Amino acid sequence: MSGQIIGIDLGTTNSCAAIVEDDGNVKVIPYRGGETTIPSIFAVDDKGNELVGYEAKRQWLLNPKRTVYGAKRLIGRDYQEGFVRKMGEYFAYDMKPGQQNNVTIELGQGREFTLQDVSSRILNVCRTVASDYLKRPITRAVVTVPAYFNDRQRQAVKEAGDSIGLEVVRIINEPTAAAMAYGIRRNLNQTVAIYDLGGGTFDMSVIDIRGRTFEVRATGGDIFLGGIDWDNALIHYVIDDFKAKHGIDLSGDPIAMQRIKDLAERTKIDLSSRTEAPFSIPFVTMTPEGTPLDINLVVSRKLYEDITAPLVKRTIEIAEMVIKDSGIQVHQLDEVLLVGGQTRWPAVQRAVLELFGKPPAKSVHPDEAVAVGAALYAHSLETDVQEHKVQLLDVIPMAIGIERADGDLHEIFKRNASVPNQKSMVFTTSYDDQSELTMRIYQGDQKEARKNELLGEFEFSGIRRGPKGSVRVEVVFDCSVEGILTMSARDKDTNKEMKTTVKVRGAA
Ligand code: AMP
Repeated sequence: MSGQIIGIDLGTTNSCAAIVEDDGNVKVIPYRGGETTIPSIFAVDDKGNELVGYEAKRQWLLNPKRTVYGAKRLIGRDYQEGFVRKMGEYFAYDMKPGQQNNVTIELGQGREFTLQDVSSRILNVCRTVASDYLKRPITRAVVTVPAYFNDRQRQAVKEAGDSIGLEVVRIINEPTAAAMAYGIRRNLNQTVAIYDLGGGTFDMSVIDIRGRTFEVRATGGDIFLGGIDWDNALIHYVIDDFKAKHGIDLSGDPIAMQRIKDLAERTKIDLSSRTEAPFSIPFVTMTPEGTPLDINLVVSRKLYEDITAPLVKRTIEIAEMVIKDSGIQVHQLDEVLLVGGQTRWPAVQRAVLELFGKPPAKSVHPDEAVAVGAALYAHSLETDVQEHKVQLLDVIPMAIGIERADGDLHEIFKRNASVPNQKSMVFTTSYDDQSELTMRIYQGDQKEARKNELLGEFEFSGIRRGPKGSVRVEVVFDCSVEGILTMSARDKDTNKEMKTTVKVRGAA
């Protein structure tokens, strides 16, 4: 018996674990102190101890350079990518390129961590919280990721689990999990939209719920659009204001930045229920002459809404595109589900109401729905009772294709192609005695292959020798319900399977 599968929402800002109890009820597992969510923060203190969750959060004002948050935004990403550098402006910790160009962080005494390592520590706390609660070891989990994650990011989360002996039996998309939390036990016949705006990412999906079958019609999103961007807008505003008043740029001072960042998020949360809030930080820095300087501002909700209006607009543009891709009209949607902490922001709620013409469903808990859905799905994977099984048909968020000789992307799976899915292509040898076939696979919606994310370079070897054009190789592309691609190749005439080698994973 391999034990119970738990559900884990691995969030950018907060993570959460849930299980289905023996009586069938879903339990979001309380962490120490009764909180159900665990901050997705990892730190190494000056004694070299690793801290995760609240322990890490508590000390981040004093130890900003060795405190990592927002890891999910950068997992499965190349250090070279422009936005990794851009995020570096906001993160106090130092990032550098590691093996295979992974983003690596140095956290004192020469200790280096990849973002995958950081995510594995967070997954481990979720697992420990669950096993303490259940009083038995946990080795398997369903883990949720943003629908807009590509193949590499999904693989990275699986590997993060593997590295701590936690088998990620299934990766599912966050909006899909939220739809399951909403509908799995209600025998519905509805088409719903899920608007999911969390700490780091925005996802929107349109899903048909028919009893226990969940079929995603379309999905879209932006993995660089979330609560952190609201915080950053206010941080920018405060820094610019301080510079204008005192001629001092606080952005190079990690302790001051951390204090501003911390207060920015709290002010944002305050302003979702108040129209004005003070923004005061005493002794934030000193003049060259040694006079202490304070930040003393009052921020109005109106001002905050003005500086973040482009963020709301971007979510609505994506939502409109997803509705269009889903092939239905807005008024045909039965319900709108709001998920993710940032959906508490009043301007988001107004924009959603305006777009959909109806208030969001009440029964969805914005912070817990994703973990609950993951637990319910995990439970359905364990059951032998046929009518309790859940059927999931998802889609991939971006096209997957191969680079053609002219440099363009030849799409194998189109954006929003349903998964699981399988496609095959037949290639003929292009020169005499050709013994191998190499192809580069990309994911993204750009016409030019190299403008998309490189998933890998694959080599199929052991091709039967013969004159050019005489040997046909059939390559099969298999995309799982998790949105993860595997490939195989065989000789079309002899049926002999070929050896597949991944020569490069990610950018070369
Ligand atoms: P999640 O990833 O779903 O845990 O969402 C966390 C994000 O929601 C963070 O950026 C929080 O600052 C944000 N958040 C939480 N509560 C509120 C609130 N009342 N108003 C605005 N944003 C919030």
